[in-house]
Amino acid sequence: MNSQAQRSDALVFFGASGDLAYKKIFPALQAMARRGRLDVPVIGVGRSGWNLEQLRARAHDSLQKHGGVDEAVFAKLAALFHYVDGDYREASTYVALRKELGDAKRPLHYLAIPPSVFPVVVEHLAQSGCSNNARVVLEKPFGRDLASAQQLNATLHSVFDESAIFRIDHYLGKGSVQNLSIFRFANTFLEPIWNRHYIDSVQITMAESFGVQGRGAFYEEAGAIRDVVQNHMLQVVSLLAMEPPTASYHESTRDEQVKVLRALRPLRPEQVVRGQFAGYRSEVGVAPNSTVETFAALQLYIDSWRWDGVPFYIRVGKCLPMTATEVLVTLKRPPMAQTSPCDTNYFRFRLSPDMIIAVGARIKRPGDELVSEPTELKVVQQPSCDDLDPYERLLGEAMLGDTLLFARQDGVEAAWAAVDPVLGDATPVHTYEPGSWGPPQAAELTAAVGGWHEPGPC
Ligand code: NDP
Repeated sequence: MNSQAQRSDALVFFGASGDLAYKKIFPALQAMARRGRLDVPVIGVGRSGWNLEQLRARAHDSLQKHGGVDEAVFAKLAALFHYVDGDYREASTYVALRKELGDAKRPLHYLAIPPSVFPVVVEHLAQSGCSNNARVVLEKPFGRDLASAQQLNATLHSVFDESAIFRIDHYLGKGSVQNLSIFRFANTFLEPIWNRHYIDSVQITMAESFGVQGRGAFYEEAGAIRDVVQNHMLQVVSLLAMEPPTASYHESTRDEQVKVLRALRPLRPEQVVRGQFAGYRSEVGVAPNSTVETFAALQLYIDSWRWDGVPFYIRVGKCLPMTATEVLVTLKRPPMAQTSPCDTNYFRFRLSPDMIIAVGARIKRPGDELVSEPTELKVVQQPSCDDLDPYERLLGEAMLGDTLLFARQDGVEAAWAAVDPVLGDATPVHTYEPGSWGPPQAAELTAAVGGWHEPGPC
């Protein structure tokens, strides 16, 4: 973090009446207040014709449904609330906001609003003076392809310096994802083998057992590649594949992550299999002839000295047999061993719902015979109430001005550049049965490495 960075002295959130505020932001605010990490004015902005009491009531309702209300903490949080009502396109809304900011000199503006509204809000923040010394937090999607991402970044940079822009990819705020770099760089035994000489392939599966949960209209604009591959999955790839960062300057980690993203070979259609679960087209808000994918399987290559020739496979999907995100790093077969590559030598990282690190190995089977059997050496961490939810962690970091856990402009654009050639209808979409592992065509991608890995037991 820049040593000159100062903590934000007000938190403004646009989209106070929205779904994200309801599900994530109010719970994060209560968690911050509980830990004594929130003591600045919290100004909700909305266009719903509310007053301050209605904002408080909405926050209370949100907490009842998402994590529970701690009444003593809530009283403190409610006392910090302010509310500004108005149309985001009207200058008067920002005049009222400026007034509500009072003496605050370094506000943080959280844009929990649809991306189509970002430009107009950013422009008005600048015109009203609300952007002076301010930071801005954005939610994905950061564009819907490379060109629109570049356009969005140009709009943001016309008002905010990159160091004041915090693009939330909540995967970067997950403890289990941060653990990937801790495990890699805090354990000496890994470095000699973490490369093309010893690693055969890498697989990342993000499986969801549920469908679009009433968000069909939103999903129609996205699809699996835009929704979770371009951002969450490629951030995981960057943490698995990056070079060790140096402690001598703060941007080093993001520099190393971005170098990986820039080294991704742009995808070709034959490296992608898209699927759509049967029944998707009957969801509310979904076109009857939709070709949007709810499943994607991809084969990626990183053109770098360390990873040349090592395939990285990504598989994401809805209505799959389970909900779990897991990474499998498979090592090459030991010389003369007759076992299949996926069978034994691997590292397994469960990223959610729980956190697991497992090392697959062979040991001698008990008994007289000198034969081996597979086993796992495993660490399991169940979620604990001391854990920070990603939104609490990220909001706290943004208020401190630390950009480390946020997506940077060049990384976002490099990730779009990798997936751009296969967006939309560049490849056919295959129907799959809910509860299956997606269309059978996906199996062809991983045939050479023994097939897809199914996330293992806890
Ligand atoms: P919503 O559709 O619920 O809208 C958020 C807010 O924006 C609401 O307060 C809404 O006001 C306001 N709004 C919507 N359209 C307009 C408009 N044309 N002009 C002015 N205000 C408008 O969005 P979400 O809360 O779901 O999402 C907010 C952001 O977070 C988006 O960028 C989304 O992609 C991202 N996101 C959301 C997730 C989620 O689970 N919801 C997950 C990850 C990211 P009103 O209530 O009056 O309509």
